Amino acid sequence: MSFNSIGLSAALLKAISKKGYTEPTPIQVKAIPQILSGRDLLASAQTGTGKTAGFALPILQKLSSESPMQRRRVRSLILTPTRELAAQVTDDFKQYGQFTDLRTTVVFGGVNANPQIRTLKQGVDILVATPGRLLDLHNQKVFSLSHVEVLVLDEADRMLDMGFLRDIEKILAQLPVKRQNLLFSATFSKEIKKLAGKFLKNPVMVKATPENTTAETVDQIVYRTDKSKKTKLVTKLITDGGWEQVLVFTRTKHGANRLSQKLGKAGIHSKAIHGNKSQGARTMALEGFKKGTVRVLVATDIAARGLDIPLLPHVINYELPNIPEDYVHRIGRTGRAGAGGEAISIVSVDEFDYQKGIEKLLGRTLESKVIPGFEVTETLQEVNDKKLANKAQNQRGRRNSRDDGNSSPKNSKNGNRSRRRRR
Ligand code: AMP
Repeated sequence: MSFNSIGLSAALLKAISKKGYTEPTPIQVKAIPQILSGRDLLASAQTGTGKTAGFALPILQKLSSESPMQRRRVRSLILTPTRELAAQVTDDFKQYGQFTDLRTTVVFGGVNANPQIRTLKQGVDILVATPGRLLDLHNQKVFSLSHVEVLVLDEADRMLDMGFLRDIEKILAQLPVKRQNLLFSATFSKEIKKLAGKFLKNPVMVKATPENTTAETVDQIVYRTDKSKKTKLVTKLITDGGWEQVLVFTRTKHGANRLSQKLGKAGIHSKAIHGNKSQGARTMALEGFKKGTVRVLVATDIAARGLDIPLLPHVINYELPNIPEDYVHRIGRTGRAGAGGEAISIVSVDEFDYQKGIEKLLGRTLESKVIPGFEVTETLQEVNDKKLANKAQNQRGRRNSRDDGNSSPKNSKNGNRSRRRRR
């Protein structure tokens, strides 16, 4: 199947050929004609499958074929869980739509709202947004959602994980009843099915890859070692392998910072990205990583979600995620659009159960290797004892700092909510 035969306009074909795409990916073959026909869509597609073009191209096609309105109105709304994904989806829309007359803009939190407000007031056709900032600006009556014809929920599973359900429901209530709805999700939990049942009308279901299976082109290897040897092992793998572009996942923001500092000390230029970093710092780290000036990007799951890093050769799980589906998302960064890649997991004794959960989800055992000098010597009991000791020490530290008057709004309802979003 070629892009020509899929029913796209000359303006879009020109942009596609400028991007260097020669043929549509499987999700594009399945989704584009259905979206053009006006059907609602429930798509199982993880990042790396070409899903963004799968919805951006037909939306651009539909909107550009309509007769122009007197004033530009938001006719398509794309909701994404994170700022980074919103920015990338916007870039994609702009690139694919560069030979059309359509305008796309993005709004997300964490940055000054005024430039976003100015652009919105000039009129846009396509709006990409994270739910919180969208609602803020909508409440301020900066724009109207009453002309939306196509709604996209991108990475809907992650939006629910991040606690956006209420916001999504509030946004849905502002949209015209008659509209086309597209829902993209990497996994299909009960909650996603419930959400889909609520607002999709007689949807077509399309799948990019079978649910919860990982790209065949990705080699997946587990190195079992002690917790205390993990940093050394990661350093060794990167240095010995001469790897120049490596994405490393940690479970926590502090873990990401700590590892990035240690890699720096070992002479490996790296940056951490997570929800506590400013938007500017996150964008700069990602740009540096794409350009090759940053060798290692250390990220938490949510910060890395949806990042568009083509042809990423190496992904390392410094810690395994405790949610098996997150493993699938993480290694979805390798082997993108058909290219090969290597996903490595560094696993300590307290993570063996996580590994089992992942293998159960994948339906196969992961290849396990041991590097001499990095064998597992710690027992689970020893690791748990250390964790308890650390926890007690941290609690003592927190109590002391509270006594010093440094208490934080950690236990407030809002504090919890915003922390969950920013992980
Ligand atoms: P996505 O799944 O939307 O994050 O896209 C993953 C990567 O595939 C991006 O770098 C896209 O630019 C690229 N891509 C999308 N469609 C195609 C295509 N038809 N051929 C080659 N690469 C593509």
